[in-house]
Amino acid sequence: MTAQLIDGKALAETLRASFKDRVETLARQGKHPGLAVILVGENPASQVYVRNKVAACEAVGVHSEKIVYPADVNPAAVLAKIAELNLAPNIHGILVQLPLPRQFDEDIILKAIAAEKDVDGFHAENVGALAQGNPRFIPCTPYGVMKMLEVGKVDLRGREAVVIGRSNIVGKPMALLLLNAGATVTVCHSQTRDLAAHTRRADVLVAAVGKPRFVTADMVKPGAVVIDVGINRLPPEEGGKLCGDVDFTNVREVAAQITPVPGGVGPMTITMLLANTIEAAEREDVA
Ligand code: NAD
Repeated sequence: MTAQLIDGKALAETLRASFKDRVETLARQGKHPGLAVILVGENPASQVYVRNKVAACEAVGVHSEKIVYPADVNPAAVLAKIAELNLAPNIHGILVQLPLPRQFDEDIILKAIAAEKDVDGFHAENVGALAQGNPRFIPCTPYGVMKMLEVGKVDLRGREAVVIGRSNIVGKPMALLLLNAGATVTVCHSQTRDLAAHTRRADVLVAAVGKPRFVTADMVKPGAVVIDVGINRLPPEEGGKLCGDVDFTNVREVAAQITPVPGGVGPMTITMLLANTIEAAEREDVA
């Protein structure tokens, strides 16, 4: 069996087209969704992510502000800016691009963002709301995965879901979302014993590890749905291309559905950031 592809690129395009309509509806009500993105330092990957986020906003008519600080900025200046943005009526979403330089305590920065403008969903209040099954903002990458499972018509109720990875950005919120959707969830991580024994039971397997081709065909139950969150750059001797955490070529012969890399979860992440920003503007309490 060759697995069906769940095409994140196509889904992202469909969703972004629908966002344009929502932005136009808001504009008729005199509301203009706005996102502020704070970038500290010159990390090249962060610069690319921020550029892509700003461009994605522009493409659907969301107002965006990019605020850039040098790497040695005093965290107090960033906190003061966040406090100002928390009160700005034209800004509905605030995000601070991670990672931050050493002098920063990421927790303090994330908690400084008003919970109702925390479109990344990393604020403790929003993490708690998600854990209680009543989310305000869902972290963008796992939110994107849930949308992909929806278009793949994957019924999660009563299914075995296994998540590899327990980061605050992907693994943990992913596990909560799957749990809230009715799956029986196992979270595996670097200290898990006999990983394959867990993954082979999975009807839905989500890999968020950060290791190229880590999930091999023998770790996958025939007919499983495999979601590859990983984005890894292969070394130049292997072509320097992007590669997921899943050994795509072989796993696609075992799985029923699979997401490719690139063109899978990646394009969905910024799409869901737009969704969260527009949702924030649509909410009465922020308008
Ligand atoms: P992370 O480094 O914070 O977490 C990796 C997780 O993998 C950890 O919880 C660790 O316990 C687990 N792990 C490591 N080795 C393991 C092993 N041998 N067995 C089992 N578990 C193991 O990474 P992250 O931020 O969660 O990102 C994971 C991957 O997803 C990366 O490749 C990252 O680039 C990618 N990512 C993609 C998107 C996207 O938009 N598609 C967004 C965020 C992250």
